[in-house]
Amino acid sequence: MSGLQCHKQLWLQVNKPHQATTLSPAQQRIISQGDEVGQYARQQFPGGQLISGHGLAAVQATQDAIATGTPCLFEAAFQFEGLFVRCDILRQTLAGTWELIEVKSSSKVEDDHYWNVAVQAYIVNQTGLSIGTAQLMHINTQTCYFPDLTNLFTIADITTEVDRLLPEVPQKLNQFKAILAENLEPTLAIGKHCNKPHPCSYVTDCWKHVPEVSIFTIPRLDWNKKDALIAQGILAIADLPPNYALTANQRTYVDSVLDGRPVMDQGAIAACLAELEYPIHFFDFEAQNPAIPRSDGLKPYEQFPFQYSCHILQADGSLEHREYLHTDSSDPRLPLVAALTSDIAPTGSVVVYHKSFEASLLRKLACGFPQFAVSLDAIADRLWDLEDIFKDHYKHPEFRGSTSIKNVLPVLVSHLSYKTQNVQRGDQAQAVWEEMLICPDLDRKRQMMDDLRAYCQLDTLAMVEIYKALLNCLPRFPEQ
Ligand code: SF4
Repeated sequence: MSGLQCHKQLWLQVNKPHQATTLSPAQQRIISQGDEVGQYARQQFPGGQLISGHGLAAVQATQDAIATGTPCLFEAAFQFEGLFVRCDILRQTLAGTWELIEVKSSSKVEDDHYWNVAVQAYIVNQTGLSIGTAQLMHINTQTCYFPDLTNLFTIADITTEVDRLLPEVPQKLNQFKAILAENLEPTLAIGKHCNKPHPCSYVTDCWKHVPEVSIFTIPRLDWNKKDALIAQGILAIADLPPNYALTANQRTYVDSVLDGRPVMDQGAIAACLAELEYPIHFFDFEAQNPAIPRSDGLKPYEQFPFQYSCHILQADGSLEHREYLHTDSSDPRLPLVAALTSDIAPTGSVVVYHKSFEASLLRKLACGFPQFAVSLDAIADRLWDLEDIFKDHYKHPEFRGSTSIKNVLPVLVSHLSYKTQNVQRGDQAQAVWEEMLICPDLDRKRQMMDDLRAYCQLDTLAMVEIYKALLNCLPRFPEQ
């Protein structure tokens, strides 16, 4: 699968595995979630036998299980001409053929899944077993609701697509063997394939020649254009041809980089800020979205909040902080909603960063807890998105083409930084929250709670300080 994404990635994985970047806690969480999904999938096939062990021992155990008539195998191992595969689920059919079932924690069939299954089917066929059907078992995010998880999975028949790829498999495998036989790593340009279908672990090394202010920071520049620029050796914005075709938004950013100065529409920013009403609530959720839901009414991967932070700025300039963090494995939503509807006043603006996220969570909570629906809908109606200022009216070369609060904060408010925090990103907060819930070491558990509170609190304090910094930029709006 690595070879299909990038020949160089395949070569590096085999020859220089130590150069791969280590997995972040968030990536590890995705992998352990995949393991959990795999184990749950096996429960749908009672009587299946798990093939344990590694390498040749697993291959032998698979052969023994088949020889003794075991009708369903998990993690069956096969080897053919130096190629080794393990199949998530392999089930004998009444016709005497075998059904190969690949389990994925994704919510739909992806293009690379066909190749994944085709390679397995090819090798299993070569060992003498006959794969009659190929299935992809993925998460059902449409009609499955906790606590009824009987339809957690959707099984898609991908036999036709796999059969279509099978004739191409030997040629691909020979090509990959030839690449691996080379002593020198393949030379390959960076490109879209570095992140699709999966983020590559060798980006740090392969992309080290990319300048900080590169064409990759231009907002929404499409990959056809990026690939054409890479082919011409143009990576720095400074090297773009004059009059290179860009959208108005991209041109504003590129001009701000080339001129080395911010571009801001003070009148538009002043008009936006004038919409805000005291008390101004600066608000942020942290949310979780497990593949296998565990609270009533939730679908797989459906987001639910487990934490919020709220800074409340009064007209007299005073600032209060309120927060909620759910610290046990019960459903966080009801206690969180009760605290939230008490902490946020019935009047005043509610400032968020990237409004669609908070709006969607508030509307879902309103549906799930009708007794709070009026208050929650009223809060959702008052949301005001601070990010819009940076999307529409303020470009700065040092934002690096992004409107993320992580990029905006260090430029406008140098005394606040995420870099000093133990938790620095939303996906990391998700991983830490999961770990904190089951952590038996109380000191460590407390530390993780403190880290989560500090991270979420910084998110809303950052908004307060960015708001003040914007006011200070405007001649008619001295800091309040
Ligand atoms: S970073 Fe890109 S070019 Fe380098 S190995 Fe990965 S996919 Fe290939």
